[in-house]
Amino acid sequence: MSSTSQNLTGKVALVTGSSRGIGAAIARKLAKDGANVIVNYVSNEKAAAEVLNELNGIRTKSAVAIKADVSTFEGVKKFSAEALKAFGKVDILVLNAGILQNKVLSEVSEEDYDLVFNANVKGPLFLTQMLAPHLPEGGRVIFFSSTLAHFSSVPTNTLLYCGSKGAIEQFTRVLAKDFGPRQITVNCIAPGPIDTDMFRKDKPEQLIKFFENLHPQKRLGQPDEVSGIVALLAGPGGSWINGQTVKVNGGYSV
Ligand code: NAP
Repeated sequence: MSSTSQNLTGKVALVTGSSRGIGAAIARKLAKDGANVIVNYVSNEKAAAEVLNELNGIRTKSAVAIKADVSTFEGVKKFSAEALKAFGKVDILVLNAGILQNKVLSEVSEEDYDLVFNANVKGPLFLTQMLAPHLPEGGRVIFFSSTLAHFSSVPTNTLLYCGSKGAIEQFTRVLAKDFGPRQITVNCIAPGPIDTDMFRKDKPEQLIKFFENLHPQKRLGQPDEVSGIVALLAGPGGSWINGQTVKVNGGYSV
């Protein structure tokens, strides 16, 4: 274990959207720190299988992959039941799956609203509701927002995305109080631009360069630069951090 490692031996972590990007990096980090991991994906079976192989290479039978659309109530219901069966419990719930859509107010349709809010708000809310009764003392809930929800130069086409992340940050505050008496912490991570498929989609190289230059380090963050804080919050070292949104952005926004 490296110096930033937490001892997660005996813990079971569920990470939504962990076939790629930040979720896959979190799955790897939590597995390296000793947790058994439930990987989740919606369509990319090949990517999920690669992550699963990697995790089972760290320790045999330490991971399973479950296909489930966590933007629907039915998908969440099926997923929570299968997840509880996989290792008999869930200690650490990481609500990472999310989608980004770029539209200004005049372009937004009811379908757009449902798409973004179902994936970014409804899914995390009901998955947490279904698994909450099963979380043990010392359990952890970790939501995902974005630095964009705090950024002064926020682009106007991130209306629905920022609105959905605002809701997640408020869930974090309220649920931290709700779950506190059971010694369960609830926190949220708000990354800045991280080099994943979500970030690169539809962006010309020039725009990516522009974002790189907004960082003091003149580069994008990498998924494994987000996973360390998730492991910290998930482990014993995170026991007194509760109800917080932690910006992980290399100083992109200060
Ligand atoms: P990504 O590269 O687009 O990866 C998305 C992951 O979520 C994939 O594993 C995908 O599965 C899964 N997924 C998407 N919709 C799903 C659904 N309905 N049900 C189950 N799984 C689903 O995303 P990312 O960049 O890693 O972002 C992860 C989180 O960080 C998101 O909440 C995002 O808003 C937040 N964030 C990202 C950035 C950034 O710059 N990347 C910045 C701030 C915040 P498949 O492989 O099957 O498609």
